[in-house]
This record gives sequence, C-alpha cells and structure tokens, in this order.
Amino acid sequence: MTGETAFVGLGCNLGDRQDFCDRALTLLGLLPRSQITGVSSYYETEPLDPEGILGPGWFYNAVAQIHTNIAPLSLLEILQETERGLGRDDQHRQGPRTMDLDLLFYGQQIMNLPNLTVPHPRLHLRRFVLTPLVELDPDWHHPILNTNVKELLHGLQDSEQIRKLDCVPGDRYGQHPTCNPSSQ
Ligand code: AMP
Repeated sequence: MTGETAFVGLGCNLGDRQDFCDRALTLLGLLPRSQITGVSSYYETEPLDPEGILGPGWFYNAVAQIHTNIAPLSLLEILQETERGLGRDDQHRQGPRTMDLDLLFYGQQIMNLPNLTVPHPRLHLRRFVLTPLVELDPDWHHPILNTNVKELLHGLQDSEQIRKLDCVPGDRYGQHPTCNPSSQ
C-alpha cells in the first residue's frame, strides 16, 4: 500500500472545545487520498503556559492517525486552512485557540524546512501529545530520538495535569452530549 502514516495533534481551549475537536475530525475525515485509521480519546489538559498568554482555559487534546497520500507540505497547508476554517485567529496565534493542528509524525520521515519540522520538535516534551499517541500506537518509533512513544512518555518528568474524558470523539450528537472525566 502506498502512502504514509501521519499523526496529527488537535488542541482547543476556546469555545465549545468538544464541538471544535469533533468538527476538526470531521474535516480530517474529508482529506483527499487519505483515511483516518485511528482517533485517540479526548483528554483535558492544563495549559503549559507560564506567562499566561494561552488564557486560563484547559485544553481538549487528541491525536488522529491518518493514512495519507498527501505530501507533507501540502498536508501542513491543509491543516492550517482547517485551523482558519475553524476560526483560528492568525493575528493572535499564540493566544487562546479554537483549533491548533500539528503534524506530529509523517511516517518515519525527518524534515527540517523553514515552515515544517517533522517529527514535531516539541512532541517528546508534551504529555498531552504523548498520552494520546501511546493510546494509538505505543510502539511508534521516533526516528530522531530512536525510541518509541511509550518510552518517551515514561521518561517525562513534568507535572502537567491531564485527564482522559469519557466521551466518543466525533460523537457530537450521540450518546455523549458532554464529556466527563473518565472513571478509569
Ligand atoms: P502553531 O502556532 O503551534 O500552530 O505553529 C504554527 C507554525 O509552526 C507555523 O508557522 C508552521 O509552519 C510551523 N510548523 C513547523 N513545523 C510544524 C509541524 N510539524 N506542525 C505544525 N506546524 C509546524
């Protein structure tokens, strides 16, 4: 089978966070020459933001696994277009955001272009990225750090709070009208 496995990180801390994440997943499901092959749970995470520019709202985060034939730079452009379509304010990119989409991995490729670095340069430091990645594929290999995402998560020494939510991603109008902290 041609194509690559890409992982896309979702994050939202403004408005109806569940709805924005659901809508982002719907749009990712419409990508040409691509198929969503996995979606993590939604997680609610505290903003990693010592200076307070992200605002006080906790994030909803998730990761989608996509089999795609779209080239990495084109995929990044589509992700940015999707962010804008969901109301991301380009004037205040560092502030609270309706949707942040990051290209975390593109297969095992390593790229260092002016506007695209893969693997994403900070993914190995972020509990809110590693936790959903591990849920999807704990053995996924990081081609630069030469270890898997499960080991990267175990090695984290931060104290970032993250809780798994008890709802079905993409299930806006289904059985889970609002997400609650999981009892697990
Ligand atoms: P952010 O504010 O987190 O959405 O950062 C977006 C900026 O990071 C844009 O200028 C992108 O071109 C750049 N960028 C570099 N590598 C990546 C990546 N792997 N995924 C998403 N954005 C990236």
